[in-house]
Amino acid sequence: MTAALAAREGGVEPLILERDSICAGSTALSSGMVPACGTRQQLIHEIDDSVDIMSADIQNKARHQANPALVQTVCEASGPLIDWLSQTYDIEFTLVEGFLYPGHSRLRMHAPPSRSVLI
Ligand SMILES: Cc1cc2nc3c(=O)[nH]c(=O)nc-3n(C[C@H](O)[C@H](O)[C@H](O)COP(=O)(O)OP(=O)(O)OC[C@H]3O[C@@H](n4cnc5c(N)ncnc54)[C@H](O)[C@@H]3O)c2cc1C
Repeated sequence: MTAALAAREGGVEPLILERDSICAGSTALSSGMVPACGTRQQLIHEIDDSVDIMSADIQNKARHQANPALVQTVCEASGPLIDWLSQTYDIEFTLVEGFLYPGHSRLRMHAPPSRSVLI
């Protein structure tokens, strides 16, 4: 879905084919938590995070087995992704507070206020 939104903004008219009568899948079961660094939400909460810190957390968790270029790309895109979905498509994300997700050295999980993406 997110790729389709980006493709549409890029001038492509995407076609999404869905098997079920309601578009739900595993996504409808999800809590909707997305790790991201450098977001507006982190800024508001004065969380000192960065692409380098998030990349290091991922590599530590993955025992340095993850592809560095891929990790870098994902981390760089993570913050702008959350802010883009919030600002352009009015999808509300709040910073998940109260606990550090395993392997994260900073609060960087973003989720809908309901902590559910149930439709
Ligand atoms: C309880 C739970 C909590 C979770 N919480 C999180 C979380 O907080 N953060 C996180 O990142 N991940 C979470 N996950 C994992 C996350 O939900 C999945 O990784 C993600 O939803 C997968 O998305 P998807 O688009 O690949 O698949 P789906 O959301 O399952 O979408 C696949 C779609 O393809 C359709 N489809 C299947 N076959 C065909 C076909 N032949 N033709 C056309 N359409 C077809 C299906 O009907 C479905 O709608 C959670 C998962 C569960 C179960």
